[in-house]
Amino acid sequence: MSIVIVTGVPGVGKSTVMNAAKDFGYNIVNFGTTMFEEAQKEGVSKRDDLRKLPVDVQKRLQRQAGEKIGQMDNVIVDTHASILTPSGYLPGLPEWTVKAIMPNTIVLVEALPDEIENRRSKDTSRARDSDDIGLHQRINREYAIAAAFMTGATVGFVPNNDNKIDVAVEEFKKILEKLILFAELILSQM
Ligand code: AMP
Ligand code: MG
Repeated sequence: MSIVIVTGVPGVGKSTVMNAAKDFGYNIVNFGTTMFEEAQKEGVSKRDDLRKLPVDVQKRLQRQAGEKIGQMDNVIVDTHASILTPSGYLPGLPEWTVKAIMPNTIVLVEALPDEIENRRSKDTSRARDSDDIGLHQRINREYAIAAAFMTGATVGFVPNNDNKIDVAVEEFKKILEKLILFAELILSQM
């Protein structure tokens, strides 16, 4: 069927938006979890320490996770277009990773920086960094577009504004419905 990559800055609520689309028959795979499982074998004990590891190590783990996920079909991949590391914005979908996954579409879940800031402050389960959220979202758009350019994936946007989760879910469902219709059309022509 199809492969959908969903991205968004930490705290934007992308997992919530995606979970609502489980009834479409996709499996949801979390890129960070796949990386973290590999990292744990090497002694990393906190998920939020991943992005502080030396960039070479992050890229090796990223490559391993990308290759694993690249073997799957019919998945929604929960990940990031960019990761803020101590040495700058690491592309979450560099050439070797996005080409291993070959997504049909890359979705960016977005909200206003103040909304995201507020959501982060309420979530005590994660160690979020303070960053320039507006800049991070702009970088994400550019990195997502670069990844689309290398694979021919489409890029879609899902606004997830406060008290509008139903709108976000609807927008995301619309994207999935179109992908499914397109896949059925191709099958009917074979
Ligand atoms: P998450 O729970 O989605 O925030 O993911 C946890 C961590 O996994 C992130 O903070 C990153 O360190 C790492 N991660 C997730 N996706 C990627 C990716 N595509 N490339 C590199 N690191 C990633
Ligand atoms: Mg998440």
